[in-house]
Amino acid sequence: MDINKLARTNILHLNPYQSARKIGGTGNIFLNANEYPISTNYKMRFKNINRYPMCQPQTIIKKYAKYAKVETNQILVSRGADESIELLIRAFCEPKIDSILFCPPTYGMYKVAAEASNVNYREVPTDKNWQLDISRITTQLKNVKLIYICNPNNPTGNIINTHIIQQLLNIINQHSILVIDEAYIDFCPQISSVKLLSKYPHLVILRTLSKAFALAGLRCGFTLAHPTIIQVLLKIITPYPLSTPVIDIAQQALSLQGIQNTKKRIKTINTNREYFIQELKNCKCIDNIFPSEANYILVRCNPKYKVFKTLWDQGIILRDQNQQFGLTNCLRISIGTHDECQHVISALKKLTNNNPTKLLT
Ligand SMILES: *Cc1c(COP(=O)(O)O)cnc(C)c1O
Repeated sequence: MDINKLARTNILHLNPYQSARKIGGTGNIFLNANEYPISTNYKMRFKNINRYPMCQPQTIIKKYAKYAKVETNQILVSRGADESIELLIRAFCEPKIDSILFCPPTYGMYKVAAEASNVNYREVPTDKNWQLDISRITTQLKNVKLIYICNPNNPTGNIINTHIIQQLLNIINQHSILVIDEAYIDFCPQISSVKLLSKYPHLVILRTLSKAFALAGLRCGFTLAHPTIIQVLLKIITPYPLSTPVIDIAQQALSLQGIQNTKKRIKTINTNREYFIQELKNCKCIDNIFPSEANYILVRCNPKYKVFKTLWDQGIILRDQNQQFGLTNCLRISIGTHDECQHVISALKKLTNNNPTKLLT
């Protein structure tokens, strides 16, 4: 008996998402998942865990609406932003007929979510500055219901030009939905597309508490969009996407004090990032450091030093991007504590010191 035969064909052939947690690694410096390096210490205050939670707890919705400067009917809360990526596909794309479009190199979940729903995907690579290739996108829009753009882009760290986003919104003009994944926007809030929401009913923005709010283990994300889109998503979201403890902690994270702490944390990360970039410039094994507005840095390494493998063996776990479109020899490094940044730098410097120069020609 081959039980596999019972699975849907697209699922049999599906290449699952390779999360940092799945790839694993052992050691004590984990800079591979863009997490905050230190745990926050919220206390659980909930009592009645015998009852089902609310599907869309209004306390959280109200607080996030205020933080994001939108109306409460423009928000959906979900089990991380990842759940929303998939909800949108299930709600708007007809399997095997409709397509989503995205622009590599970018976040890997758009493709996996499409494949899991048996929805086609189209990849339109970014240009050499990792900006959108609008003219090519325009020729690829037939049956495209959703366009996923990550801003700032993961793993490159760059920002997508606001006027290009607006140009794209005007071109697609309600024939498709433009989804801007703003998982890292809290590190550069001034470039958010949230101000375009009132003008464009076909714009969707994804947010999360996993990155700047230091709550990746909580699993809480937000979708900001026109109330009509929110209503469609509410039809298919699971009845209890957030557990009672999640609701409890999200409330604390979104309190005035919680947001104040997050703003401090963002300042620390941004400061560490600038320090890390300055130090990387003195590392001979690094050929390129790409500018970043987020809590990670993309670098291109000189392949002869085997940076990823060597640091991995020392218990410094980074994210290899070598397989990503256009990112040969690239690594993504999350910004850790000042101490962790220093450790990485000293490990990188050792790579070139240990090698006698005569071998390096
Ligand atoms: C981390 C990340 C997400 C996932 O967010 P969760 O809320 O943890 O599901 C979504 N998009 C991008 C680009 C990310 O880097």
